[in-house]
Amino acid sequence: MGRIYTIVNQKGGVGKTTTAINLGAYLAYYGQRVLLVDLDPQANATSCLRIEKSTVRGGVYEALIGSFPPTNYILHNPRLKMSILPATPALAGAEVELVTIISRESRLKKALATVSDRYDYTLVDCPPSLGLLTLNGIVAAKDGLMIPVQCEYLALEGLSQLLNTLERVRSSLFPELKVRGVILTMFDGRTNLSNDVLTEVRHYFQDDVFQSVVPRTVRLAEAPSYGQPISVYAPLPTVRRLMLPWHASCWKEMVGIFRGWKNENAASIRPWSWPGCLDPWW
Ligand code: ATP
Ligand code: MG
Repeated sequence: MGRIYTIVNQKGGVGKTTTAINLGAYLAYYGQRVLLVDLDPQANATSCLRIEKSTVRGGVYEALIGSFPPTNYILHNPRLKMSILPATPALAGAEVELVTIISRESRLKKALATVSDRYDYTLVDCPPSLGLLTLNGIVAAKDGLMIPVQCEYLALEGLSQLLNTLERVRSSLFPELKVRGVILTMFDGRTNLSNDVLTEVRHYFQDDVFQSVVPRTVRLAEAPSYGQPISVYAPLPTVRRLMLPWHASCWKEMVGIFRGWKNENAASIRPWSWPGCLDPWW
């Protein structure tokens, strides 16, 4: 059975999509079959993967509302060796349409159950809200949630609201719901603020926080506009040397804590080659 993780935080711009794409690319690079589910009507993950618009015949909306099998709409990015269930403009109406549908919180879980076996990892990228779309993402997160927290003022604001929602989901719908890990993003070690947030989040979440943090770097912000994960985009040797160790350790840690990944698969994993680079991650 493939693993399903949902990347969630109702706060906007904290790095959910960036985490989903780069973690997905990392896993795909090491031979894992990865499906990215774009649950956000903004469709950022879909655009970042440079999916040709004419090839999109539907996506998450059809799977959620129409109960059509997601396989009808899953597209593959051969360059990144990653698949995506895209978001389409129709998804913007799904929050309202879901209200009257039976088992409205479990629609995505049901839809993904039909395809998750075909993938080693399914990563669900949530919108910045706590509405029904996000609730569907949370209930579908069979193997846990990943919560990116931006190292900025007000970072913790809203987290308690998210935790309350998780508690409600646990008590009513999904008692086994886990937080797989909190990821500190856009960390700038030169500022007191980043260090304060780091201390506070670690104090609050204890062992649930990844030790590695994602640094703030303009390259990570630029990469999506070229449809590339950071490992492909960062072209200069110095940038690679300075930056990739951070990211590599971060993604490695995320992958490493995914139960059984190392034991089950490490021996069989052979990275494929990105054009023009030998092994960007290690
Ligand atoms: P939304 O809630 O709108 O879906 P999000 O949580 O998915 O946002 P992203 O889209 O991943 O957040 O990131 C928000 C912005 O910050 C983007 O422009 C992205 O390129 C940039 N960004 C993300 N991570 C970093 C980083 N580590 N360093 C610099 N910029 C970053
Ligand atoms: Mg996003």
